[in-house]
Formats: sequence, C-alpha cells, structure tokens
Amino acid sequence: MAETRRRKAGAINRSILGLLGRTGLPLSANAIVQELAALGERICPSQAFRALARLCDDRLIHRVELVNGYVAGQPGQTINLVCDGCGKVARVAAPDLFRDLATLARHAGLIPGRLVVESTGLCGQCGIADRQ
Ligand SMILES: [Zn+2]
Repeated sequence: MAETRRRKAGAINRSILGLLGRTGLPLSANAIVQELAALGERICPSQAFRALARLCDDRLIHRVELVNGYVAGQPGQTINLVCDGCGKVARVAAPDLFRDLATLARHAGLIPGRLVVESTGLCGQCGIADRQ
C-alpha cells in the first residue's frame, strides 16, 4: 500500500515537472490540476499541493510569489522577471544583490531568512509587440 502510494506520488511529481518544463510558465496548484486533467491525468488539489511541496523541498521547482505559481528550476539567488504580456518568467542570477540585501536586513535589525526579488514588465517579444 505504501509502495503504491509512493509510486503514484513519484508519477505525479514527474507529471508536474514535465508540465512546468513544457509550458515555461508559472502555474498555480489549481492550474496544474486543470492542465493535467486536460491531458487525461486526474489528480486532486491536495495531491498537487503535496507534490509541489515535495518538489520545492527537493529544489526541483520554486515559487514565483508575484503570480502565485511554480516554475521548474532550482531556487537560489536569482531575480524572477515576470512578463505581464506572455507570463513567462526569466531568471537572472544576482548573488551580489542578495548579499547586499542580507547586509541591509542585518543592519536594520532583521536576521534575514528567505529573500525574494521579483519584478514584472514586458519581455523583449511582448515589448516589441506592444510598440507596434
Ligand atoms: Zn512576454
């Protein structure tokens, strides 16, 4: 029974990773449930939430706070740049910025925990389309 549950959890993890990898878009748990259902794979929201928590713990995906969604890829000292046009997320490594933010937080009396830096805007393609 536990083995079956573990195997099913592994299959759900793989489905979610595949979906996030294919779309390149940040997807919420509910959007993931709907997208997988459209592909003929039915999972309930609680299964999606558990799988997303596992995948975050394993550092295979991370959450994009601005849009309440998840994308494939390791969390880290990166800035998430979210396009308001197409919804895609670009990631930019910024270890110096995160080090400076941690220093500023400590100077302000806060022991830094999780630092998140995100921005919205228009990607190159959507920016060009917006000007035409
Ligand atoms: Zn765009």
